[in-house]
Amino acid sequence: MSIHLSARVQALQPAVTLAISAEAKARLARGEDVVNFGAGEPDFDTPEFIKRAAVDALGRGFTKYTNTAGIPELRAAIAAHVQREQGLAYTPAQVLVSVGAKQSLFNLCEALLEPGDEAIIPQPYWISYPEMVGLAGAVARFAQCRAEDGFQLSRDALERVVSPRTRLLFVNSPNNPTGAVLNDESLRGVVDFLRAHPQVTLVSDDIYERLTYGETRARNVLALAPDLIERVVLVSGFSKTFSMTGWRVGYALGPLPVLAAMQKVQDQSTSNPTSFAQSGALAAMIAPPDEVERILAAMRDEFARRRARMVELLRAIPGFTLEQAAEPWGAFYALPSMEQLVGKTLGGKPVVGGESFCALLLARGVAAIPGEPFGAVNRVRFSFVLSMQDLERGLARVAEVVRELK
Ligand code: PLP
Repeated sequence: MSIHLSARVQALQPAVTLAISAEAKARLARGEDVVNFGAGEPDFDTPEFIKRAAVDALGRGFTKYTNTAGIPELRAAIAAHVQREQGLAYTPAQVLVSVGAKQSLFNLCEALLEPGDEAIIPQPYWISYPEMVGLAGAVARFAQCRAEDGFQLSRDALERVVSPRTRLLFVNSPNNPTGAVLNDESLRGVVDFLRAHPQVTLVSDDIYERLTYGETRARNVLALAPDLIERVVLVSGFSKTFSMTGWRVGYALGPLPVLAAMQKVQDQSTSNPTSFAQSGALAAMIAPPDEVERILAAMRDEFARRRARMVELLRAIPGFTLEQAAEPWGAFYALPSMEQLVGKTLGGKPVVGGESFCALLLARGVAAIPGEPFGAVNRVRFSFVLSMQDLERGLARVAEVVRELK
């Protein structure tokens, strides 16, 4: 007799990003030469002072349960950080520390969505949004963002998919997988949309907020309309800014009843994020802002160099298109189209889309993520969180594969 798996889990898609990264790491561990463009994490180490704070906490025996919502000092420090950076007033009770930003997003879906409710997700999207919405029993509606518009989000696109059942709107800027940073026109569109549809709560996933390039700066909806603070849940974390993906610490801020409901979900699932990981996160939050900025600037400058080189090399591959407007200005991803390669073959294997193309690349020692699971058909996501040398080596291999396609 086989064990029955729940229908909602059977409907769940595995995270392709994690699967390809795991495959690339396994091949590397076997001694194979794989250039990994699949990673979703900075290739910098966590800053030393953060690691030391966690080690000190372990030394002090800070190894027990904490409050579910996080240690009070960390909640207060996050509220103070958001006040300083964004001028928004939250009490520590309005801050939930979670096991990565991902858990905050998950908690939020569980807290807000009823079966049959709808959530609007701008497309392309981070792969976990539709799955979290589906697990909560709700239905995802996709608002289209076009490459030729720089993947900006228009109010029209939102109006096309809104309904009386819409409860939640996801906004992610800087964006995974497009690297797009929403401009003020897009943000104004979202503000107007929220004012016109009072049944909708916005979740602003700001996890890449400090990673922008050139003159581009990321702002969220509350920068334009602070009066909407009761309609917005902000989500961010330590993973990308402080190279702390493995620590699993993120956070959410928002209206008290929503945050209390999210905490209830966390109470009954994981309880608190790891105690001594919170101590590291606290060190990051209370460090002098100019010290943090110095560390971040070094990482950003390096990413900016690689970003420019990646854009240049991707554009030099015949059959690849990275539209002028779709150049990434935030996060650490580029999402070129390979539509012109569809229909070609290599060794009898046809390219029918991003997935089959990425399988060809992996066989030739390049890991990249197909666009399809992000809702980006015939596109491939390349991260630039690898050394310049690997980036150049890897894209040379991609160019070679493309050249061999018949
Ligand atoms: N949101 C987006 C858009 C992401 O790309 C990621 C991670 O890749 C997360 C949230 C989750 O971050 P965390 O590591 O804090 O759970």
